[in-house]
Amino acid sequence: MARRKLVAGNWKMNGARDANAALVHDITFDSKRFPGIDIVICPPAVYIESVAAALSGSSVQLGGQTLCEQEKPGAFTGEIHGGMLKDVGCSHVIVGHSERRALYGESDALVAQKFITAQTCGLQPILCLGETLAERESNQTETVLARQLAAVLDAAGIQAFKSAIVAYEPVWAIGTGRTASGEQAQAAHAFIRGQLARANAKIANSTRILYGGSVKADNAESLFANADVDGGLIGGASLKAAEFLAICAAAQ
Ligand code: PEP
Repeated sequence: MARRKLVAGNWKMNGARDANAALVHDITFDSKRFPGIDIVICPPAVYIESVAAALSGSSVQLGGQTLCEQEKPGAFTGEIHGGMLKDVGCSHVIVGHSERRALYGESDALVAQKFITAQTCGLQPILCLGETLAERESNQTETVLARQLAAVLDAAGIQAFKSAIVAYEPVWAIGTGRTASGEQAQAAHAFIRGQLARANAKIANSTRILYGGSVKADNAESLFANADVDGGLIGGASLKAAEFLAICAAAQ
């Protein structure tokens, strides 16, 4: 089955009102050239509403970078409920990004709960999985991917993957300038799809699996050419309109 490619930009903790306005202007102006793909941008939460206004009339969609695992709003100071992300215009939300796992102690179980809450709130989770360099070098890549995925599969069930996206993001490639080769990405993506297929082959076949980790204009095409790579989750390069649009062009 042909899976529609998706390119998502994770702005992380970057941006300012003027810079966002210029970036969104350039992206929306040119995104019309890519009707064959989905484009999602994930600004910092405080800017989502202004970016949503700037995106009005465009097919570019919006995502949050994380959400609170709590299913109901309430006394959770500093947290953002999934319903609030939806309310300000998000259709997607990243869960389990390696920076959240490593810097903020998010466990597999917490990531699974965030995934479930995202869907309860009507958001499509973009579930990030990936091994560290030490794990890759000790041949633990598949063990880690299987464990991170199983935590979500066991909690949410395979049917939940009908409206979810997976992102393979090797930690050693994020923000390092060191990208997985096409073969490494394909092997990891095929493994993830195989894990999903053990539960349901049809759903596995339709689930989009993005690659993330130092994707740039000059390596996007060779990554996206692989059979199980359905687009990219882009960090640093999503902050430069020309670079991000060139990555979109490679996915188109
Ligand atoms: C990311 O933050 O998800 C990411 C892939 O970052 P970068 O593209 O900068 O490696």
